Amino acid sequence: MDRRKFIQSSALSALAIQPSLKSLQNMTYQDSEVNILNPLDRVPVSMIIDDSTALVNLAYYGIPQFGEVFPKKYLQDWRKLPREIPDAFVMEFIEWCDAHGVKGKYSMVPYPACTGWLHRFIPGWSKQELKQSLDLVRNEVTRNWDIHPEMISHTRVIDIKTGLPFPQATPDYMENWEWSQNKSADELGEYLAYALNVLKEAGYTCEGVTTPGGFGSKNMSNLASANMEAVDEVYGSGVSHFFRNVIVDKEQSVAPEVMKYKNIQSDNPSCSVHIIGCTADWFGGWDGLTPGDTERFITKDLQSGRMIEVIDSGEPALMVCHWPGIYYNGDKLGFNIFKTVVDRLDQKYGNSIIWMKLSEIAQYWAAKEFVSFEQSERGLIINAPFGVNDFTFSLKKRFRHPVLLNGNNTTSLTELSSTENIKNNSFLRNKKQTTVCMDLPNGRSELVDNQ
Ligand SMILES: [Zn+2]
Repeated sequence: MDRRKFIQSSALSALAIQPSLKSLQNMTYQDSEVNILNPLDRVPVSMIIDDSTALVNLAYYGIPQFGEVFPKKYLQDWRKLPREIPDAFVMEFIEWCDAHGVKGKYSMVPYPACTGWLHRFIPGWSKQELKQSLDLVRNEVTRNWDIHPEMISHTRVIDIKTGLPFPQATPDYMENWEWSQNKSADELGEYLAYALNVLKEAGYTCEGVTTPGGFGSKNMSNLASANMEAVDEVYGSGVSHFFRNVIVDKEQSVAPEVMKYKNIQSDNPSCSVHIIGCTADWFGGWDGLTPGDTERFITKDLQSGRMIEVIDSGEPALMVCHWPGIYYNGDKLGFNIFKTVVDRLDQKYGNSIIWMKLSEIAQYWAAKEFVSFEQSERGLIINAPFGVNDFTFSLKKRFRHPVLLNGNNTTSLTELSSTENIKNNSFLRNKKQTTVCMDLPNGRSELVDNQ
């Protein structure tokens, strides 16, 4: 990580004249006749898995380190826990999820609880075992799951100049607690980029990060900037996202928040989207010792529960769990709760929900935030800094044969009957409006009526 590069790019963005998000939003939605819907007009759902990594049971190694900082709080008998969460269980979980269309985010903590490095070796396992575990995640997990670092160790703060943990076992030098709360965007950005570079060297592509414990919770603005700069630096510009907060209060929105952006009018725009979980871990806890409860997500009669509350509001419903609680020391309690929740969601909602990765949700919300529409003689001009698949919107103008023009490409949309569910490259009409679903190209395109 080149520190000067960060300072330069931050100075540049400070100099550039940027409209505030709010004024940009007004500009975006000045045409009140367009109403952007959820992708495919379905409510996104997702599963956020924290504290996973290769082989290492983060609870076993993490609890004594947390206990050193807060001796009265972390009294779990960690020696009784398994030190490994085996790859056979990763495979079993992923196969079940693939068969049920489940998607989400899976953490790969780069230096899990300071045991060893994913891109080097982890004491206690052979180099071959580590390689197999990394390959398994790359080949089987990344298909339907985003990979995030959960900072570097999830326990001690690492001095990124030396790669060593700081010597103090105090909240000020733990990733979960105080260290991150007073750091600048540049300092946090360097820390995040260090974590991302380990995963890059281990063979993974990441579009975002997960915060361990309270990391950055009192420093959200700098965290959002740091996330954008770090993902840009390591993987290139675009939509980055980070998972930080969980909200279980029904009065508050859990929709993703676009918190930072830059170069929006250029060919390489970037933005940083805060992803919010809507449940606590009611599966098996972060330590794999806290039994959860299916009913809190969705009750047996399919009438109540937090997932119903959020899905019925139309906002993305993202569940949160921890990998040790899913495995539950071999009893798989969290996994069994999850299976029942997925089955009940399917019974209640069927095709009116859609499983998405966090990166797909972030991309959709970024597209939605920055897209703007203008009436043209032939229809509607669309300007989109960020393109996205399955972009769905309704407008008052009634099209007979909508056709999307983008450069040399022409896409004709197919009319569906009013009883059908909308799908890609199609449209529905009624007396009041047209609802369109299409892949939104980035840049300028035009939706015209081929009468
Ligand atoms: Zn965590």
